[in-house]
Amino acid sequence: TVQQALARAQEVQHLGALLSVNEQAQAQAEQVSARLQAGESLPLAGVPVVIKDNLNLRGTRTTCGSRILEGYVSPYTATAVQRLQDAGAVVIGKANMDEFAMGSSTENSAYGPTRNPWDESRVPGGSSGGSAVAVASGIVPVSLGSDTGGSVRQPAAFTGIYGLKPTYGRVSRYGLVAYASSLDQIGPFATSAADLSLVMGVIAGHDPLDSTSLEHPFQAEVSPLFARLRVGVIREALAGNTPGVEAALQHTLAALQELGADIAEVSLPTLEHAIAAYYLIATPEASSNLARYDGMVYGQRPAGVTEVNRAMGEARAAGFGPEVKRRILMGTYALSSGYYDAYYSKAMRVRRLIATEFADAFQQFDVLISPTSPFPAFRFGERSGDPLAMYAADADTVAVNLAGVPALSLPMGHEEQDGRRLPVGIQLIAPALQDERLLMVATALE
Ligand code: GLN
Repeated sequence: TVQQALARAQEVQHLGALLSVNEQAQAQAEQVSARLQAGESLPLAGVPVVIKDNLNLRGTRTTCGSRILEGYVSPYTATAVQRLQDAGAVVIGKANMDEFAMGSSTENSAYGPTRNPWDESRVPGGSSGGSAVAVASGIVPVSLGSDTGGSVRQPAAFTGIYGLKPTYGRVSRYGLVAYASSLDQIGPFATSAADLSLVMGVIAGHDPLDSTSLEHPFQAEVSPLFARLRVGVIREALAGNTPGVEAALQHTLAALQELGADIAEVSLPTLEHAIAAYYLIATPEASSNLARYDGMVYGQRPAGVTEVNRAMGEARAAGFGPEVKRRILMGTYALSSGYYDAYYSKAMRVRRLIATEFADAFQQFDVLISPTSPFPAFRFGERSGDPLAMYAADADTVAVNLAGVPALSLPMGHEEQDGRRLPVGIQLIAPALQDERLLMVATALE
């Protein structure tokens, strides 16, 4: 219940999963009861949920983990969040995140990190670390995050839960603060594939307010696994994994074989360039999307400054953290004339190659499989000093966003490190619009 969720949020406050609590939650829970009493049928009646702090909920603060949006109150509600509420869910709080969803550890939040409940000296992954920990620490059964390059799947893997990055366009992005619009998707976290299904059944579908959203109803009923499922193991993701990740992958393949699947290796050679292409596409989009934080329309206006360029400069200097500044610089550079052909335009060609390689692989295979991350949760500070080491954490996830296809991370094992058991996630990837197939396979593996 909403009351229990709020109590649990208090209990595990030291984990830093939530940036704010919805003061209206209790009152909204009572309204849901009244709707039930009036005979409405609500698939998520009274279910407490948490949403990432880049999702707008009318009348609540939305910071995106950034100082520049401190004090901003949303004037409207994101479509996915509205649909959850229409189905009877109650948002109990907003989740911590890397600033503007840029990061893989939630260490880039301006409001402090979120801790991994499995080992509090380790990161929960990112950028949706707060949404993942809200589920993994038992505050709520389901939460929403956003996945531009792995930000739902990787924190799901690091915290031992389920996370889905839907097909691009399957969930409306209206009301999701944009990071890289051609890659961003809202995705759910849960403790089972069935719960992911339930949430997708509610939030997916066309929305006139997002012209990239697709007209394609979600089949919330999970059909049983079909025999002779053809599973392709991505060869490029087989090297460089820690022993526990390797063991979890082998264990998953054995389980799939037992279920009657045909398993073979498949090569997607351009995946080698996925991280480079991703950062050359995501940062230009970010530099353009973040131009609106100018201290005028959005963001704190510096006091006493009357000259416009100085006002914008000061607002951004004070409001943005170092990673966001790095991304804006990188993105602006990649788009500038003289460099455009060498970087942005080449990255777009790599993107197309990757999409083609996925499409070719799906001629032979029903699903593809790889680890979600080459390693389990790492320690605070272990990667935050070196941007390239942090970007390397996205090795297994970013290609999926470049191709626009759906992927799911499910908990399939543990790795022992320093006497602690750390969860390991395995990633399943399906062709566009076959999100339901991922849930079916994940259910069979439960
Ligand atoms: N780690 C990746 C990045 O920083 C992905 C983030 C995300 O999916 N929002 O861009």
